[in-house]
Amino acid sequence: MKERLNSAEIKHHNKQFIYRTLLALGSSTKTEIAARTRLSIPTATQAIEELTAAGLIEETGYQASSGGRRAVSFRALRNARLSVGVDVSRNHLNLALVNLAGEVVASRRIRTAITPGPSFYEDIRGPLLDFLSEESVRLSSLAGLGVSLPGIISRDQTKLLYSHVLGLDRPLGLKPILPEAGIPVRFFNDATSACMAELYTGTAPSDFCFVFLGNSVGGAFVNDKKILPGYHERSGEIGHILIVPGGRKCYCGKCGHYDPYGSALLLSEPAGGQLSVFFRGLEEGNAEYAAIFDEYLQHLALLIYDLGVMTDTPVILGGYVAGYLTPYLDRLSGLVRDLNIFEGSDNMILLSHYQFEASAVGSARYFIEDFISSL
Ligand SMILES: [Zn+2]
Repeated sequence: MKERLNSAEIKHHNKQFIYRTLLALGSSTKTEIAARTRLSIPTATQAIEELTAAGLIEETGYQASSGGRRAVSFRALRNARLSVGVDVSRNHLNLALVNLAGEVVASRRIRTAITPGPSFYEDIRGPLLDFLSEESVRLSSLAGLGVSLPGIISRDQTKLLYSHVLGLDRPLGLKPILPEAGIPVRFFNDATSACMAELYTGTAPSDFCFVFLGNSVGGAFVNDKKILPGYHERSGEIGHILIVPGGRKCYCGKCGHYDPYGSALLLSEPAGGQLSVFFRGLEEGNAEYAAIFDEYLQHLALLIYDLGVMTDTPVILGGYVAGYLTPYLDRLSGLVRDLNIFEGSDNMILLSHYQFEASAVGSARYFIEDFISSL
């Protein structure tokens, strides 16, 4: 049975819907918003008045008209609130500033070594403060700070439990990076936040498997637009699926897991650490790169086939490698098709909208969604 909403909840829901519609349109009139949302003009009028009073939209004058009364036009002040996301990896920080429309207003990729020792917070805090200062962002005006980490975070947000990527040998206590800002802070697993970025685009399927092909491989399972956390916050640890018994050693210490066959490092390391150099070489016919990539695609096809059999949902490929896969998607689909035992499963492989900035964007957008939901 469908739950019935009370009048306050309906009003709250309508206001959000009107605001999201105006954010998507950029600018509009009361009549147009009412028509698009199929709500009444008095409902649209009241929501617009409240959103104007909250400083989230403004009147921009009269819309051009071919006759009759000219309608007042409004626009969403997309940068009225910003949220910041930091994605921490072993050798990089990715920073992204996101506005109310979910647009990336500014981003940086900084090469710096991060170790979970005494300098951990300062290693993150320093570049983050520099970034916010360069973008003239007041700390107190931020809707929140999302921090994406390459590891498993405790459900109560107090500890980074595991991180092979950062070389963590015991749980690390987590504390706010910018305590003086007085803003909400939340920590996320990097693959989970990259998957969140995908979900927030609004164009992702309701159910899918997300495969994060970064320097380590991660993933997430999405059911009805929600990421499944698992009992121990470890759902979607796709990098540790056993695909070659007795095979290459995984960074976790066991052998034959998917990570040593799917890590972006397999491709970047032969090219001096640059994925772009690898893919350029591949295009130019480098035979060594072609052999590495053939094997890489075969293992990726195996993983996609296994995920498809288990979940019967599309697979979205994200992470650094996915940004280069467009020209090879048909070949990859062909390899999966060769393995497939079911008919009609084509077009089940999609590529993420984001590349390097995915995890930073996903963790920042969490607070934008939170802010809009609270209106
Ligand atoms: Zn492993």
